[in-house]
Amino acid sequence: MPYEKYETVIGLEIHAQLSTRSKAFCGDDVSFGGDPNTQVSPISLGHPGTLPRLNRKQVEYAVRLGLALGSAINLRSAFDRKNYFYADLPKGYQVTQDRAPICVGGSLNIRVGEEEKAIRIHHIHMEEDAGKSMHDSEGPYSLIDLNRAGVPLLEIVSEPDLRSAEEVDAFMSAMRQLMRYLGICDGNMEQGSMRCDCNVSVRLKGDPNLGERCEIKNLNSMRYARRAIAYEARRQIGLVESGSRVEQQTLNFDPSTGVTAPLRDKEDAHDYRYFPEPDLPPVVLSREYVEKIRRALPALPWELFRQFQEEYGLPAYDANLLTQEQPTALFFLALCEHTGNFKAAANLIINKVAPFCNEQGIDITDFPVGHDHLAAFIQLIDEGKVASAAAYQHIFPALAEAPGRSPLEAAQALNLIQTSDEGLLERLVDEALANNPEEVERYRNGKKGLMGFFMGEVMKASKGKADPKVASGLLRKKLG
Ligand code: ADP
Ligand code: MG
Repeated sequence: MPYEKYETVIGLEIHAQLSTRSKAFCGDDVSFGGDPNTQVSPISLGHPGTLPRLNRKQVEYAVRLGLALGSAINLRSAFDRKNYFYADLPKGYQVTQDRAPICVGGSLNIRVGEEEKAIRIHHIHMEEDAGKSMHDSEGPYSLIDLNRAGVPLLEIVSEPDLRSAEEVDAFMSAMRQLMRYLGICDGNMEQGSMRCDCNVSVRLKGDPNLGERCEIKNLNSMRYARRAIAYEARRQIGLVESGSRVEQQTLNFDPSTGVTAPLRDKEDAHDYRYFPEPDLPPVVLSREYVEKIRRALPALPWELFRQFQEEYGLPAYDANLLTQEQPTALFFLALCEHTGNFKAAANLIINKVAPFCNEQGIDITDFPVGHDHLAAFIQLIDEGKVASAAAYQHIFPALAEAPGRSPLEAAQALNLIQTSDEGLLERLVDEALANNPEEVERYRNGKKGLMGFFMGEVMKASKGKADPKVASGLLRKKLG
């Protein structure tokens, strides 16, 4: 099959559960993992006579995301009912925004390898989640948990700008990172707080027209999304190559077989009979409200990524690692208020502080050693008081264990202060040369690479404490 002739085109519909305390239209608790059907009330159960009430936080979070993505904020948006019958949808309809969504347009940049590319956003709308059905119970029945019914969602709809599973992965990661920075969604795909529907089509490379698409529903892990896209693209190319056509369909991906299959036939394709939600007034926002949210936006991941390179002189690799999570980026900025050696600060966080927090299962904000002590740690190395390897291996763990101690005290207690005492170093250098007459001979005959060997000997004899500059000066003098 000539797969290389084709290009895959993908557009995403991302559903993000918002980290509000209560549901979209009532006060039920939304925390994850409660016993089934304990976080429900007459409103989320859809009892007759109950009325919804809008959650202000849902609106605020939607505006925050829209502003960060450069979307236009609709000062007047409205809710609609999307009607369908399913056992985990107690009201018989989902409240969503069909005609007038809260945010329109915008874009998010992704990086794949060296290439950076803007993925356009079609719109973002507010809606509510349905309950959860479990069809894998033992008996001839399904189980239903309505804790999730009514949880506030944002649906982010992208333009069909993605061209590969790698780009989808990068887009999902960038969206997750952004939403975590904004504090609006925890982005936890395993717990279902972020899910996506993938719309996939194929076309001959260079063809300006889009092919017919299929929509793969509810992919809740990037691994599944990658496999589903790969399978679906090959299936569609197979159809086109064999002279038949791709039919627009809604598909389900089965991770156990790796195959996509139609969710429903055309005959029972949904007619959602959208109509304006009569129980909720339109959402009307003032300019001032939107501007207030704009002013309160935190520094965004790509702003920090650029700042770390341009102002702090970090390589892109470091800047990328440090900006993955907002608390790490803020930790770096705070540390740089205490030290001028920004690269050393980056190394220390990437190689020691972050791995330590990972191992201990703590947030970086709870890292026990203060920024002043970490800066002093960097200075000890920079001033040549402690060898860098010894500092990383011994002083860092000692500090983490007893954070009250200054790095200098820790270095003294561990007997790691480097010595530049010429008398002592001269004796060690003499010993190193006396113990290795053959190497001295070879060095003098031109094997200059042996310098490292002699330095190693002196370091060993000094238990790592010889000041390397003084020691190498002495060695050169004696050998040369
Ligand atoms: P609907 O309203 O029927 O769901 P939309 O036109 O709003 O359809 O598109 C929904 C999603 O499908 C968007 O993410 C969009 O980018 C994507 N999409 C639309 N056409 C294509 C296509 N030909 N190939 C891939 N994705 C597409
Ligand atoms: Mg759709």
